[in-house]
Amino acid sequence: MQAFYAIFIVLLGLAIGSFLNVCIYRIPEGMSILHPPSHCPYCGRRIRFYDNIPLVSYIILGGKCRYCKHRIPFRYFLVELLTGVLFFLAYLRFGLTFELIRMLVFITFASCVAFIDAEKMLVPDKVTFPAIFLGVVLALYPGGFSLVNGLIGAVFGGVIMLVFRVGGKLVFKREALGDGDIVIMIMIGIFTGPLGVFVSILFGSLLGSIVGIFLILKNKTDILPFGPFLIAGSFIYIYLIQFTKYLTIG
Ligand SMILES: [Zn+2]
Repeated sequence: MQAFYAIFIVLLGLAIGSFLNVCIYRIPEGMSILHPPSHCPYCGRRIRFYDNIPLVSYIILGGKCRYCKHRIPFRYFLVELLTGVLFFLAYLRFGLTFELIRMLVFITFASCVAFIDAEKMLVPDKVTFPAIFLGVVLALYPGGFSLVNGLIGAVFGGVIMLVFRVGGKLVFKREALGDGDIVIMIMIGIFTGPLGVFVSILFGSLLGSIVGIFLILKNKTDILPFGPFLIAGSFIYIYLIQFTKYLTIG
């Protein structure tokens, strides 16, 4: 039975990963995520269901559109794989608990935000605001993560990023952080509480610095979005640090 649940969660993760690819492409363009059905962005041909199987289709088609043979970005494969793996690890960590559902919701929205920010340097309110709302609703479940903890996390996260934003502007005379980073931290805070916020900023800064130094060494001076690193930091908190003492369903 354990294996059955694990396989179900992985398949769910792959399906959601496939949907996230649609969101990552369409939301920054202001397009509907439901309509029209999936089509190739290069030739406009409709993608048939048998060409839309997570991971498998990308490999069978060799990462190219069936019709126009245009290269499909590797991101499509990566997001599907990553979501499947993150869902599986969450199942291992939380088991069949309400906390698993809460964390899968967070992982889904946070991954979507991370990839859009990484690709477009943009934090979409259409994703973060519903995530914050769901974070409040899911914290109402009795015996689970407390809403008070979430609200303290959200305020702590928002205020600390605001201080960094204003302070960074005064010291470096340029915009080091955006409003989007503040919203991301509020989102992380509502789901993980103040300790989650602290760990996310700590590891997010560490990871961001490592990648930043690496880019400078390669003589690339791209401005890095901070959001994906903060979200990676929050995943480190969820998978490695957060203590789980929540009730099992049923
Ligand atoms: Zn095509």
